[in-house]
Amino acid sequence: MKILVTGGAGYVGSVAAADLIKAGHEVIVLDSLVRGHRASVPDAAMFVRCDLANTTALRMEFSRHKPQAVMHFAANCLVGESMSEPFKHLDDNVVCGINLIRASVESGVRKFVLSSTANLFDCPGVATIVEGAEPRPVSPYGESKLILERMLHWMDRIHGLRYAVLRYFNAAGATRDRGEDHEPETHLIPVVLQAALGKRDRVLIYGGDYDTPDGTCIRDYVHVADLAQAHSLAIGALETRSATYHLGNGNDFSVKEVIETARRVTGKAIKTEIVPRRPGDPAKLVADSTRIRRELGWAPVFADLDLIVRSAWNWMIEHPNGYSTVPGGHS
Ligand code: UDP
Repeated sequence: MKILVTGGAGYVGSVAAADLIKAGHEVIVLDSLVRGHRASVPDAAMFVRCDLANTTALRMEFSRHKPQAVMHFAANCLVGESMSEPFKHLDDNVVCGINLIRASVESGVRKFVLSSTANLFDCPGVATIVEGAEPRPVSPYGESKLILERMLHWMDRIHGLRYAVLRYFNAAGATRDRGEDHEPETHLIPVVLQAALGKRDRVLIYGGDYDTPDGTCIRDYVHVADLAQAHSLAIGALETRSATYHLGNGNDFSVKEVIETARRVTGKAIKTEIVPRRPGDPAKLVADSTRIRRELGWAPVFADLDLIVRSAWNWMIEHPNGYSTVPGGHS
């Protein structure tokens, strides 16, 4: 299948693009390179530099390449930032997402996969979050994804655009060739590993007074290669009906447990300091991913947190300056 992958120069998008190519699909990566890295795009993918805000250029790329399916990864996706810069999410994410959905419908695309988020939920007392739980976005970032989920619902009903919404819990880890390289880095695992590498003095723990056993937030970390596997399965299953799936391991780890794991895996001392809570952070987000396991046979390979952290550590050691270490990787 010919698949257009937005954000295919980003963290999850580049791993998914590589996976789709391995599965025999033809991939067109469309990315503005504002945050993505040209060096992360698989060699076998066609690369198009385009901003989703530019509707004229976007329409042109659709008519030039005529994709049969679209996977939408490109987004501003920092929960904390969305609380201080809401328009970046409620404007950019929503407008660019709608531009893309519109271009897809207008050019006759019948399959669409949306990267969504667990930041749609604030369910502290709940063991694991099922797809049927009522979304209550916790930040403008979460809200932006919910708006696009609802848009897809209507495009399915009105235009027959089949969609899969994949709500990631916490994407983490690395493959041999691709890992996390954000500027600035704010995600817990890379931040902790940067401290292990001596690139940061300490890890700031955002809040030690949550209603959780050790007072720090609990998350469900899922390996980026397992997320990529879910995308390949989801696009293959879109012939008949649309669906929403949760992607997580169902394992709950607190911030302190992640830091302990990183100390064990790296053998390094990692200093920490508890600071006030970060706005927009729910106490606990853990996935019930029974639906995708049952319906599509999704089976995470790297469910163990040690494996996830080890893979990220291996990538960081080999790429201490991220993609700028890779030839041609400065963008
Ligand atoms: N976190 C933290 N210190 C950091 C980065 C993150 O304490 O330097 C916490 C954050 O408050 C959240 C968890 O780690 O509870 C996971 O945050 P991350 O930004 O990695 O992902 P999110 O859950 O926001 O998508």
